[in-house]
Amino acid sequence: MAYRVTLIPGDGTGPELVAATRLVLEATGVAFDWDVQEAGADVMDKYGTPLPDVVLDSIRANKVALKGPITTPVGTGFRSVNVAIRKALDLYANLRPARYMRGIPVCHEGVDLVIVRENTEGLYAGIEHDVIPDEAAETIRIITRRASERIVRFAFEYARANGRRQVTAVHKANILKATDGLYLKVAREVAAEYPDIEFNDRIVDNMCMQLVQRPYEYDVLVLPNLFGDIVSDLASGLVGGLGVAPGANIGQDIAVFEPVHGSAPKYTGQNKVNPTATILSGALMLRHLGESEAAERVEAAVAGVIAEGKRVTYDLKPRRDDPTAVGTREMAEAIVEAMG
Ligand code: NAD
Repeated sequence: MAYRVTLIPGDGTGPELVAATRLVLEATGVAFDWDVQEAGADVMDKYGTPLPDVVLDSIRANKVALKGPITTPVGTGFRSVNVAIRKALDLYANLRPARYMRGIPVCHEGVDLVIVRENTEGLYAGIEHDVIPDEAAETIRIITRRASERIVRFAFEYARANGRRQVTAVHKANILKATDGLYLKVAREVAAEYPDIEFNDRIVDNMCMQLVQRPYEYDVLVLPNLFGDIVSDLASGLVGGLGVAPGANIGQDIAVFEPVHGSAPKYTGQNKVNPTATILSGALMLRHLGESEAAERVEAAVAGVIAEGKRVTYDLKPRRDDPTAVGTREMAEAIVEAMG
């Protein structure tokens, strides 16, 4: 039986990355019945909205989606489609593993972190307004017991299910005493229910410094929305950059898989950017579907191609202007070949 999966190519480099990922996923032998849906800047003219209702309806019906990145205009224009999807479907947990793969030039080899980011509230809710236009503006950061509890619980359950040793709650409770104070209090309460997993907490600025210097000391990090967004890009930088960082947005019974990175619009249509992050997001999706063996084959093939270092995109070469770098599609083809 084929899995019916909503497929959102997105915009910018999204369609190239999703096409490359489709190639790899279909080569596993797992059958997919793709329900292709358009969203993003490119469909504004056609539908008058970057997120037509039909897209959310499709994800609700299929329960699983694979998504390319979608552009959000900076400072003005429509609000983030990515955030809207997460909120509309209550995909409260943003799971972002950052794992070293041999062959990638990095500062520390062997980094293996998992970022668990709260996905529905905090500064990302975008509750803001002008107080005096052009002079002062205000944003409201809401942190609730309910959202804090379920995200910390998700982190502990993930740690337990995946044999991880430690969960670190990251916050700014020294300054944000009400909001992050509540988050940290709830994190400590939940941690007490998981005596088998070590628990600690770190203030977010110190956390960033420690991750850069001693990333091996950390395992699973759980963070409020904006801190999670920022620290997951830092973690991806530790393992080779945004080109290799996969992600999943997980709710009660719906999951949307997408890379950590954005639409990298300056490379649109150039067959240039790295498909690894989207392909590994596809592997996370395979695992979610119960196709662990296929997921392992995809991950092993990606690791093999990267370790060999020949048929990889520019960002994985020691020098970014290396003329032997291949394109998005060619790297995906190398991964398909490596799967046998
Ligand atoms: P970005 O992640 O698109 O790109 C930043 C830089 O990272 C790129 O210039 C490139 O050097 C590198 N990079 C990104 N993806 C890569 C890949 N696959 N291979 C190699 N290098 C890669 O971030 P940005 O430029 O800040 O954002 C561009 C747009 O994407 C914005 O509109 C932003 O809102 C949006 N965005 C969307 C998502 C999402 O769809 N979930 C996430 C983040 C940003």
